[in-house]
Amino acid sequence: MRKLTMLSAILASTAMTMPAFADGHLRIVEEPLELTIQMNHARYPNYDENWPVEQAARAMTGIHLIDDTVGANMRTDENTGKTEALNLMLAAGVIPDIVGSSRLKDFVNQYGPEGAFYPLNDLIAEHAPNMAAYFAERPEIAAAISAADGNMYYIPYLPDGKYGRAYFIRYDWLDALGLPVPETVEEVEATLRAFKNDDPNGNGLADEVPYFARQWPELIRLVTLWDGRSSGSDTYHDFYVDEGQIQHPYAGEGYREGIKNLARWYAEGLIDVEVFTRGSSAREFLLSENLGGMTHDWFASTSGYNTSLADRIDGFAFKAFAPPASVSGVRMEEHRRIPIKPDGWAIGATNEHPIETIKYFDFWFTEEGRRLANFGVEGEQYTMVDGAPKFTEEFLTNGEPVNNQLYAIGSQLQARGYFQNYEYEKQWSNEFALEGIALYDEGDYLIDQFLGVAFNAEEQRVYDRYWSSIRDYMLERQQGWILGNGDVEADWDAYIETLNEMGLQDVLDVMNSAYARQYG
Ligand code: CA
Repeated sequence: MRKLTMLSAILASTAMTMPAFADGHLRIVEEPLELTIQMNHARYPNYDENWPVEQAARAMTGIHLIDDTVGANMRTDENTGKTEALNLMLAAGVIPDIVGSSRLKDFVNQYGPEGAFYPLNDLIAEHAPNMAAYFAERPEIAAAISAADGNMYYIPYLPDGKYGRAYFIRYDWLDALGLPVPETVEEVEATLRAFKNDDPNGNGLADEVPYFARQWPELIRLVTLWDGRSSGSDTYHDFYVDEGQIQHPYAGEGYREGIKNLARWYAEGLIDVEVFTRGSSAREFLLSENLGGMTHDWFASTSGYNTSLADRIDGFAFKAFAPPASVSGVRMEEHRRIPIKPDGWAIGATNEHPIETIKYFDFWFTEEGRRLANFGVEGEQYTMVDGAPKFTEEFLTNGEPVNNQLYAIGSQLQARGYFQNYEYEKQWSNEFALEGIALYDEGDYLIDQFLGVAFNAEEQRVYDRYWSSIRDYMLERQQGWILGNGDVEADWDAYIETLNEMGLQDVLDVMNSAYARQYG
């Protein structure tokens, strides 16, 4: 640090006479060095050397990334997390210098210890001061990404900002019916019933859809109102941590109670009858047709309807409300942004420049690199205002979604290891989203998340043998109960017995042994 300060001082004083060195403090190599990269992500099929962000990083560091992607456009299986493109790359026998991908974590934590990727701990300690400082401040993140052998094999994409989803309701419908914002699960039920029966959209038809969801697990999320859980992380159906022990939400008593009541709500017409099949267009359709009453969805995009539908639906107000109190009085927002994703990048074992590469990874954790990763190129997408990056008015108002514009220039790439800056999103979040986030901030409703475990080979075998069929069975029964095929209370003991016969306890045992090793 001290060296850097002295160097900066020297450079500043000699800047007039040595302009070539004036902003060379991020330079890693004197002569340009080319490193190959495999990059897989649904939003960008490979690494584009023409991205303005890549060009800027080249100018600053001297490192040139050269696309060498195998299996571009191959999708990751969201259920198994298996990354076909990465398997293809491995089968081809050549691992590029850098491998960046969504769902990289399990892959590198399996093949890293077998020698396919560099362990990063020593490289970071010796050559990457910015990342070392980050991990020193957040040891839980270092623990969460480490493999069973204790080493880190990838640098993750680290999201910033806490809030993801919230409860939304039609405030104008509440006003029309003279109802308050519901504060408890009982009041939510009464409100949904009023939405169904009392014609809040005023067209004389009982056409309202009281609760709807773009993703059907957001119906299951409501079991939290009966003190159940639906997931321990931002991935649906995930395990959760209960007083230091890993459990699965779909084997708990609060879940049973929640499913029992949600089945009742469904039978009474308080839930969208098409909740399992309507899919991702549910929100767009039910809001724009003035039919949908309540959901649980993302702050920013859901708040956006207050602007986009203002002209079409008189008085339209679909705004966030605080998580209703559960039967025991707990107000919980189960969903939040996870602080660490399984996406990011790693160093292939045949890379002949591991030190330069880890320095390059570290560049993205410097102030300038982080700005480049988050905001794009200065003077193009943003300018510096009072010492902070601010997107230009032209960039924010040209009609294209901000995210898509940033991906298109090589910024905000989740297959790059970097630390997101929430400020980038705040600058284009609408007033309704910011108002809702302030409401959630006040109440402190978020809970800690399960950040995942890294199995050793034997644990992995047990998990692979049992888990996917257990999960399928859980989801099949879950949907059946909601739709009225069977009664959760009558079926419960047999259900738990079947889960145990299928190996649930074995899976929980390996989850817990891995968890204790990793976080203990
Ligand atoms: Ca109506």
